Amino acid sequence: MAKDLSLRFLLPGLILFGLLAAQAQAQPRQSLVPGGIAIISLEQENTTNYRFRDKPVLIAKIDGVPSALVGLPLNLRPGEYFIEARDSSQVRKKFFSIRDKKYSTQHITITDERKVNPYASDMERILAEKARQQVARNHYSPAAVDVDFITPVSGVSTGSFGRRRVFNGQQRRPHSGMDIAADTGTPVLSPSAGRVVELGDFFFSGNLVYIDHGQGLISMFAHLSEIDVKLGDRVEKGQIVGKVGATGRVTGPHLHWSLGLNGTWIDPALFLPD
Ligand SMILES: [Zn+2]
Repeated sequence: MAKDLSLRFLLPGLILFGLLAAQAQAQPRQSLVPGGIAIISLEQENTTNYRFRDKPVLIAKIDGVPSALVGLPLNLRPGEYFIEARDSSQVRKKFFSIRDKKYSTQHITITDERKVNPYASDMERILAEKARQQVARNHYSPAAVDVDFITPVSGVSTGSFGRRRVFNGQQRRPHSGMDIAADTGTPVLSPSAGRVVELGDFFFSGNLVYIDHGQGLISMFAHLSEIDVKLGDRVEKGQIVGKVGATGRVTGPHLHWSLGLNGTWIDPALFLPD
């Protein structure tokens, strides 16, 4: 009888624990380097209107404290910076300092030479897609944000965010996201709730999906084999948005996940369990 009782009470707890462990959530971590994020505690009564370089910053509770989460561009120089809130009566400033970070160089061989040196006839498409991606990355909606992310696919992360990239011997822009090795067809889950603000088959990124999580926090998934959402769809945390693939400029199947904050790409690892 006693055994039955303990099982009856223990079992639901164990199942819940198992579910949470499988979907480990994390709060974002601060990293005061280019490509990182600054997390700045705010007074409860003064949390509105903060901007960084004229872009609104994300406000969320971190360990119960209202905080500004500031995306730090990869090309930011070490030094002192601030966020600023202006209203009719005053200007409030919060300072933080950025230290240097050296990112390593990665040499990659791409078999499809056209993905490294596109034909002149590709340029119109590439420029149009670049403009669309810039709009998507700067999408802003004021809703409250769930910053406790889950991992979009379980796999081996290469931790290659920020690396300088040399494709077939030619320097290209630094790596703007995280690559996670996974088999083609592996479901890609939305790491938090949001709305689909861009998707399509792009020259370099292959099949991609942009999800606006709110307040300038944007996920971009690239190289998908399949897209399972439509433009404008509302997605829940953990919902399948597509499948891992090898479309676009790749060496093999993997998920590329970029995470934007106040219009700049940051290291997605800072939003995942350590
Ligand atoms: Zn990548």
